Amino acid sequence: MDNNEKFTHVRMREQAPEERRKNFKEVPYGYSEEEALKEAARCLGCKKPPCVAGCPAEVDIPTFIKAIKEKRFKDAVNVIKNTNTLPAVCGRVCPQEDQCEKNCVLQKTGKGPVKIGNLERFAADTDRANADNGSGSVATIARHGKKVAVIGAGPSGLTCASDLAKKGYRVTLFEALHRPGGVLVYGIPEFRLPKDIVYKEVDEIKKLGVELKMNFVVGKTSTLDDLRKEGFEAFFIGTGAGLPWFMGIEGENLSGVYSANEFLTRVNLMKAYRFPEYDTPVTVGKRVAVVGAGNVAMDSARCALRLGAEKVYIVYRRTEAEMPARIDEIHHAKQEGVELHLLTNPVKILGDEKGNIKSLVCIKNKLGEPDSSGRPRPVPIEGSEFEMPVETVIMAIGNGPNPLLIASIQGLTTNKRGNITADDKGHTNIPDVFAGGDIVTGAATVIAAMGAGKVAARAMDEYLSSK
Ligand code: FAD
Ligand code: SF4
Repeated sequence: MDNNEKFTHVRMREQAPEERRKNFKEVPYGYSEEEALKEAARCLGCKKPPCVAGCPAEVDIPTFIKAIKEKRFKDAVNVIKNTNTLPAVCGRVCPQEDQCEKNCVLQKTGKGPVKIGNLERFAADTDRANADNGSGSVATIARHGKKVAVIGAGPSGLTCASDLAKKGYRVTLFEALHRPGGVLVYGIPEFRLPKDIVYKEVDEIKKLGVELKMNFVVGKTSTLDDLRKEGFEAFFIGTGAGLPWFMGIEGENLSGVYSANEFLTRVNLMKAYRFPEYDTPVTVGKRVAVVGAGNVAMDSARCALRLGAEKVYIVYRRTEAEMPARIDEIHHAKQEGVELHLLTNPVKILGDEKGNIKSLVCIKNKLGEPDSSGRPRPVPIEGSEFEMPVETVIMAIGNGPNPLLIASIQGLTTNKRGNITADDKGHTNIPDVFAGGDIVTGAATVIAAMGAGKVAARAMDEYLSSK
């Protein structure tokens, strides 16, 4: 082992960009056992591990890594599952670079952090492979019978449901869509997070005794009051931020304009990329502009490429330094050929006589003083408008809370953006109603939503125990 090798992490092998831009298969391959052992060996097993403080799911990181080092792979995943019900998901999509890995002592000594996320993925994938052979881990729980309802089967709801089931409650998880997972199945594409992996982790939650009711829109199919009458004693709302925002510019009603939400749902949940095997196609032009620069924008751009677009542009009003997407996602998108149009903002969309998009008219920006978000304000440069010929425009500028359920609950307090007001334990202003995840914070991260589901489960347990 040379010095250089000693001080850097084990890289994950992945599909070559020119290949993967033509398919929806997962991009990174995951560690082999040999690679995982080599990476785990870098962990110092700190007595007071700063990495744990960076994990909203409170995973005992040094203990699970030690188990990997000692080839006790089942123990490794069990340590993770003590506090995190979605390890294979988190190992793939969590922004570890801003959380546990950012805090790792090796990061501070300049050696580069232990790749905790990659090891978490290895532990979860190895356990899943063993479960497929009939030797995975299964939990058994004693029940005491109180009925609780969890609304929304995204990361916050799944975590809350599994933690409550582990505490012995009879949990019913209500989901509006026909598949559980929330954004994990309708938003994040297959090449970043294979859906079978999500469904297998959801199966683990079902094994804890959680009952799933799909195609059930709480607020429509039944109200909270109806559920109270059925004996539910407490509620967790984890309905996410699924209402897409538009810019309010001319031409947004033209044929060929999608919200990222609709586009990604059609591609991922409805499997448009497998048309005609699935009868839900999606139309993508030769040139596609994606407006926005978060993970949602990167996912939309990379899907559009895979669906056959020849040119895909990210149109973003600030510079690359301010792009909110994970660095890895930006890197992957660029490698695959997505082009960045920075300091650029759309002002209108032009159509042809049939109502189809012809072009996106944009204006160039320069950076000004920081705004309330702390980022430099984009300032339009007068007279710099130009036309970008495209056939498809995907708006990925953010989402707000879905108002349907909230509107059906009398007296529930929300903030000016329409998000439910809840304290840091998930209490709302209604004693038996708790909330967490994107419906409270606005669009955030998988692990933040899971963390919110976890603390709310504790608060619900306290509430129900004191009743
Ligand atoms: P959601 O995941 O939105 O789940 C809410 C669920 O509630 C949905 O299934 C919805 O159908 C259901 N629901 C809504 N209303 C009702 C109702 N009335 N009755 C019953 N069910 C209802 N985060 C990361 O950490 N890393 C990433 O790489 C990443 N990439 C992303 C990519 C995309 C395209 C998107 C959209 C988001 C991404 N995020 C990422 C953000 C992350 O996915 C979300 O922050 C997280 O999923 C929020 O979880 P949640 O449980 O609050 O809500
Ligand atoms: Fe291991 Fe880094 Fe956590 Fe220390 S901080 S226990 S080295 S992962």
